[in-house]
Amino acid sequence: MRAKTTEGREIDLKQETLDGLKMRLRGPVFLPGDVGYEESRTVWNSMIDRRPAVIARCIGIADVIACMQFAREKELLLCIKGGGHNIAGLATADGALMLDMSLMRGVWVDPQRKVAHAQAGCLLGDVDRETQVHGLATVLGFVSLTGIVGLTLGGGFGYLTRRWGWTSDNIVGISVVTANARLVRASSDENTDLFWGLRGGGGNFGVVTGIDYVLYPVGPEVVGGIVAWPASEAPKVLELYRTLAETAPPELTVVALMRPAPPAPWLPKEMHGKPIVALLACYSGRPEEGEKAVASIKAFGKPIGDVLVRRPYAQMQSLLDATQPKGRRYYWKSEYLSRIEPALCEKVIKHAARIRSPHSAVILFQIEGALNQLREEHSPVGNRDARYVLNLAGSWEQAGEDTANVEWARDAWNDMKSFSTGGTYINFLTEDEGPERIEAALGKGLDRLAQVKAKWDPQNVFRTNRNIKPA
Ligand SMILES: Cc1cc2nc3c(=O)[nH]c(=O)nc-3n(C[C@H](O)[C@H](O)[C@H](O)COP(=O)(O)OP(=O)(O)OC[C@H]3O[C@@H](n4cnc5c(N)ncnc54)[C@H](O)[C@@H]3O)c2cc1C
Repeated sequence: MRAKTTEGREIDLKQETLDGLKMRLRGPVFLPGDVGYEESRTVWNSMIDRRPAVIARCIGIADVIACMQFAREKELLLCIKGGGHNIAGLATADGALMLDMSLMRGVWVDPQRKVAHAQAGCLLGDVDRETQVHGLATVLGFVSLTGIVGLTLGGGFGYLTRRWGWTSDNIVGISVVTANARLVRASSDENTDLFWGLRGGGGNFGVVTGIDYVLYPVGPEVVGGIVAWPASEAPKVLELYRTLAETAPPELTVVALMRPAPPAPWLPKEMHGKPIVALLACYSGRPEEGEKAVASIKAFGKPIGDVLVRRPYAQMQSLLDATQPKGRRYYWKSEYLSRIEPALCEKVIKHAARIRSPHSAVILFQIEGALNQLREEHSPVGNRDARYVLNLAGSWEQAGEDTANVEWARDAWNDMKSFSTGGTYINFLTEDEGPERIEAALGKGLDRLAQVKAKWDPQNVFRTNRNIKPA
């Protein structure tokens, strides 16, 4: 079996060496051709097509430690797969030893302390499901199939961000297996430099085995959902969005989007595939107040569909899942914005009209609130001046359509990037976005991150990520 070292050299892994690895693990090991290998090696974005040499599906922390020891002995290139949702495919690498965390999906909730411990293979929905048993939740993202670790280590935002900040602002401890195969805990009073670095610096410092999240009372019922109008109404709907977003209480998060209508049962058949504008909203406080807070959306014009209603919070958290299936081709461009200007709305409309696929969208996420109240140095995720996220989200089926769809996103971005704060979201960067975009995402924290890297991973073992070189 040919594999790669961290330095990129090709080496041969003999059968008895691989048998030795198998014997050290409780979880299964997959080699190319094994049942399980294909499913494990593939990620959400099918533009990414890489083949690790060996995949170890870890069952517990001891498996992770054994893999790290094995990787060190053989100097193997290493990659770690959480939910596999990173658009740049950072979870996978040709010739590497892949640690697939998908069997580690336990969640333990302490309702008294309002803390949940989640294992590193959890998807967002796993955490919501268990915390909602107690009417609690932490800040997670909009699609329940995303992995918690990738999301958290890069920042993380969702419907609760306006109230409580980035996901990474809401962790109290992280367990990590470091480059020298040691299990350590990072928190505000243990290994504080590592704790700082992990909250934005990605998987640069070790293999995360579990995260402790702060929980808040949320649900079980919220007012949430989506209202859609024909795209011809976009100027007025985006103006409503602009004014509503500026005055909305922190409990209310509104997302504006334009795209061809999906074939959803709540939209009339004759509109499927036709351009629409929609507002996605979630009021996470008391439903009676939520109904008042979203009244202006529901009363606006003549919607073609309205499913903005009282619903379980857990259901709200998976409302968009079907629009983002694993296996399509995806390409994004993103920027942080400090406000929604009328001139930006005009460009949203212009570029939505040029979308090249039935699945693509122009999206404006509202994140303003708690995250703006912390200081820039609080964590490397930074960007404390970001109030909205612009996402030009290309999504299509066939490789032959790559050029047209990538060009659409790039052209729209070139035309709109002047509205940016100058910052961008590390977790939304695509494969072709290099050091200058990492600088835009983490710029102010990069020197300090390099120092943390020098202490915790001086050999740069963890390099198949948005890599930070040791200082
Ligand atoms: C459909 C979709 C919706 C999204 N929605 C949101 C959203 O609402 N809010 C938001 O903030 N982001 C969102 N994202 C972006 C998301 O945060 C990133 O894609 C993130 O990287 C996904 O994490 P993952 O674990 O699934 O990724 P993976 O691809 O598995 O991993 C991403 C990175 O994290 C590292 N990593 C994973 N597990 C570990 C571990 N145990 N230890 C160390 N490093 C590890 C990997 O090595 C890799 O570098 C979305 C992405 C998609 C595709």
